Amino acid sequence: MQLPREVLIGRGVAPLVGETLTRLGFTGPALVVTGKTVLPIAGVTVLESLKARDLKTDTMTVESSTTEVVALVEKRIRETQPDIVVGIGGGKDIDVAKLSSMKAGRSFVSVPTAASHDGIASPLVSMKGLDRPYSYAAHSPLAIVADTTIIAQSPYRLIAAGCGDVVAKYTAVRDWKLAHRIKNEYYGDYAAELALMSSRVVIKNASSIRAMSDSGVRTLVEALISCGVAMSIAGTSRPCSGAEHLFSHALAMIAPTPALHGEQCGVGTIMCAYLHGANWQLIKEFLQKIGAPTTAKELGIPPEYILKALTSAHSLRPERYTILGESGLTREAALRVATITGVIEQ
Ligand SMILES: [Zn+2]
Repeated sequence: MQLPREVLIGRGVAPLVGETLTRLGFTGPALVVTGKTVLPIAGVTVLESLKARDLKTDTMTVESSTTEVVALVEKRIRETQPDIVVGIGGGKDIDVAKLSSMKAGRSFVSVPTAASHDGIASPLVSMKGLDRPYSYAAHSPLAIVADTTIIAQSPYRLIAAGCGDVVAKYTAVRDWKLAHRIKNEYYGDYAAELALMSSRVVIKNASSIRAMSDSGVRTLVEALISCGVAMSIAGTSRPCSGAEHLFSHALAMIAPTPALHGEQCGVGTIMCAYLHGANWQLIKEFLQKIGAPTTAKELGIPPEYILKALTSAHSLRPERYTILGESGLTREAALRVATITGVIEQ
């Protein structure tokens, strides 16, 4: 199990990155990996905090999280030999920092500026391939510094998407249990309960998250980090990623304009909860309360692609057994689940 050593969550904690690094024993240069838009929002603050602790810095701005970009950053790490890599941003910057630092044998620190998915704390990276998305085992951040003031300034849509990614654990854990019963796959109760607790806590705090109150944003960030920890404990993304994630990955591949990962996962959770015979209405009501999409229309994706994703999702990761079974849903079954749950209008 690889777990973060320090987790700072709160208002105005971004300037504490330098202090955190020196407390962890780093004295050498730091490579900061960030995005162009994030640089003036959070990057500058973090860079100043590093300089204030006499830590030399080097900065790389990335625009995507492709394997080519990861290779470029890995090359820079090998050439300049920084002590530590600091990833600052929403998702792609942290993914690039996570994977490149692991490949080059360096630790990394995660400084999320948005709360749109659980990759900010997980030991895994998912990347789009030409044929399907790939999930890579990377490593856990050594430290996470989540400044809720910065996160609360991100577009609300990202917060709502984060809620979708957390509530997805409701069906991810059910799929994991199912795979344990049917395929004798390893199942860890503790990791499963931790992931489920995250989804319970965000459901309970829907109003304060919707109001973007300080405690609401904090609750969501804590839930996302707990999901990352659950994956570290399990040694697999199983507690956090089931059929609802496969559905989202399928949409990301085929939809003309895919929605956000967490938004698609949320809608997938409604339908997968129905397939599990679980309380899908609870998930739908929660997402509506949050203001996250619950229908194809709200996702901005034509119904046809919802059905295609439902019938093809099982084939994306054949080794991952879920409620979709080995042969997947028939078109008729897909149409039924999508209409009964109101994802597609009759
Ligand atoms: Zn996710």
